Amino acid sequence: MSDDFLKHLAPETRAVQALRRIDERTGALVPGIEPATTFARDADYEPRQRYVYGRDGGPTVEEAEAVLADLDGAAASLAFASGMAAIVALFETLSQGDHVAAPRVMYHGGQTWLHRLAERRGIAVTWYDAADPGAPAAALKPGETRILWVETPTNPNWEVIDIAAAADATRAAGALLAVDCTATPPTTTRALELGADIAFHSATKYLGGHSDLVGGVLSLSEDSRLEELRGIRSLMGSVLGPFEAWLLIRGIRTLWLRYAAASANALAIAEHFQGHRALEAVLYPGLPSHPGHAIAKRQMTGGFGGMLSLLARDEAAARQIARTTRVFTPATSLGGVESLIEHRKAVEGPYSAVAPNLLRLSVGIEAVEDLIADLERALENSL
Ligand code: PLP
Repeated sequence: MSDDFLKHLAPETRAVQALRRIDERTGALVPGIEPATTFARDADYEPRQRYVYGRDGGPTVEEAEAVLADLDGAAASLAFASGMAAIVALFETLSQGDHVAAPRVMYHGGQTWLHRLAERRGIAVTWYDAADPGAPAAALKPGETRILWVETPTNPNWEVIDIAAAADATRAAGALLAVDCTATPPTTTRALELGADIAFHSATKYLGGHSDLVGGVLSLSEDSRLEELRGIRSLMGSVLGPFEAWLLIRGIRTLWLRYAAASANALAIAEHFQGHRALEAVLYPGLPSHPGHAIAKRQMTGGFGGMLSLLARDEAAARQIARTTRVFTPATSLGGVESLIEHRKAVEGPYSAVAPNLLRLSVGIEAVEDLIADLERALENSL
């Protein structure tokens, strides 16, 4: 299919049709899976196609990367064996003495990795307060900062960071802006168009969408860092597997629908439980009372997402609620079609700054009345 024709289609059309890459050989509308780990050379000892060895990638991974790059509006995307593998690869580009700024409350795995780099590899890290709009820019040290890491909304407090403002500040400081878009896929927030240099996704979440694959993505606004990152991925052995790549393409076909449905459910839940007598607060950027709502409205154009947190009266009540829901399953992860509930303090590591009474909900696409009734029962039970 010509690129020109595709360009005129809406992004959701291109995603639903997986870039219309109809298989030349069979006419299949669904790409095949190419599991080969090694590829034959020709008489001149050149690779017959451009593939050599599975740890560098392969046809199915490339297929997924084309869909991902189109989705993010990226010059190129790289698919990794997990979100953490992608994060580690990006920070592997740093050298001793480089400086990074990152939110004080963010996804705890990435945070733990940054602490490790600070302790063992001489990387300096400034932790900024994501609730303070001026804090990301203030954390930058011109000439020293290599990466400003932004997660928006931040997990699991759902504070909103203004990506466009962060992009202006990083550019002025000569740094790169990398945005963790795991909770905000490009159906709602187009991080690269807002000025980010790198959009990161844990594909395990909304992109895959069915809690059946682990993967990660780095999408790059321009390809100058592509070969370095691809080389790191090869040497670390952290490329996405072909089966997962195939599942990822399938997941992305329904991303728009799933994200819209989860967002509608989460908003209804947030509105319903705001002010509930068993709760101290509902944290959701879709609520007008949320401090980041104005930025979220501007930045999250396709829905506020399925992620929200409830602050119970205390830790014991929070744990009790997570034990008694019957539709929300107590489990980690997010972005799947099924709803999950999690007491975050219990699962985060030693660096966690999460409130002990916080329950994180990943709202799925079930009938919203079942979700509300389930939470209502569990909250009443906690009183
Ligand atoms: N970033 C966020 C916001 C996440 O929620 C997660 C996983 O929970 C990750 C990064 C890491 O991704 P993965 O679990 O695919 O390694």
